[in-house]
Amino acid sequence: MSDSPSIRHLRDYIAIPSVNPMDRDDGDPTIIGEKRYADHLCEQLRRLSLDAELVGDDNRPSVVAEIRVPGATETLLVASHLDTVPVDGMEIDPFDPVIDGERLYGRGSCDTKGGMAALMEAVEKVLQRGSLRRNLIIVGESDEELGSKGIGEVIRHLSDRPPDWVIATEPTNLRIVNRHKGIVHARLRAHGRACHSSMPENGRNALVDLARVVIELERVNESLAAQPDSKLGPGTLSVGLMGGGAAPNIVPDQAWLVLDRRTLPGEDAKSIAAELRDVIARSQVEKIEIESCEAMKDALETDEAEACVRMCQDLLAANRLDTATTIAAFGTDAGSYGAAGVPGIVWGPGSIEQAHTSREWVDTRQVEQMANLFVQLLERS
Ligand SMILES: [Zn+2]
Repeated sequence: MSDSPSIRHLRDYIAIPSVNPMDRDDGDPTIIGEKRYADHLCEQLRRLSLDAELVGDDNRPSVVAEIRVPGATETLLVASHLDTVPVDGMEIDPFDPVIDGERLYGRGSCDTKGGMAALMEAVEKVLQRGSLRRNLIIVGESDEELGSKGIGEVIRHLSDRPPDWVIATEPTNLRIVNRHKGIVHARLRAHGRACHSSMPENGRNALVDLARVVIELERVNESLAAQPDSKLGPGTLSVGLMGGGAAPNIVPDQAWLVLDRRTLPGEDAKSIAAELRDVIARSQVEKIEIESCEAMKDALETDEAEACVRMCQDLLAANRLDTATTIAAFGTDAGSYGAAGVPGIVWGPGSIEQAHTSREWVDTRQVEQMANLFVQLLERS
């Protein structure tokens, strides 16, 4: 059984629940929220003499810890989100870290406390040896699994001293991910006119209006499919939630929907709102409003020629690991930094196939390998 520092840290982290409330207010307060894990990390980092603090929302804070090295010319930010997805329906005790062979089970083992555990071991090592060669900002951000509120607060907090590049640790099987799509969510509402359902001609049915818009929204996928990104493929649009009406015998005056738009680099909430206004105009429906249109995640596009990509590829090559860059099907907080002009990659232990599952686990060898990669990275200038 592995007893390396990274695995010990990971077991501690799994045992501290940090479940994202996912916009619901009926969650169990003993497991909901990032605060407990944030406090734990802050203390741990301060014991290493790092300048660590809690940032943002008091109840759902993020952690930011900084080390400056005299003479260093470059600042690396490593972000590992604090929150996990909920634990409903899990087939294991989510907060009891159990090791079975090479697998460590528990909520967050893979997504993404393994990355933080690997980083913590590396930081302890290089500080002990006095071999840190670059300025380092360690970030544990809240709310990655839903709205990315945490990373926004962290970026604002560091606005006068932005990093030169960013690693978001997420389960990539130690591969370098340099591109992924972004996510925009929009909420549309149709306003009709209510009347008795026996005389529908006297009213205006908001559900019917909304249905017309849905058909036009589906067609957006045809034009998106005609303009794919060479690496990421096309953007997509999917209507995920709909509702409306009050009773079968009332012509509804209200109907709403929520859609999920996967974006390509260059697209943002503003451009998607413009796209939606065009769709609404084409559907020739009177009163539809865009109630909200927000980027949940920004797309990531870091060129293969960027120095940070090349350096991490060199490290992988030196460790006889796969150096080819790849794309991710999921969004990450690296996209937020990309949108702010800071290049970044997604890189970490574990496979996305085990993330969010009812028996979440991570391969302990990958966590230990990542700790070694972080050591080598921090000792390089
Ligand atoms: Zn994650």
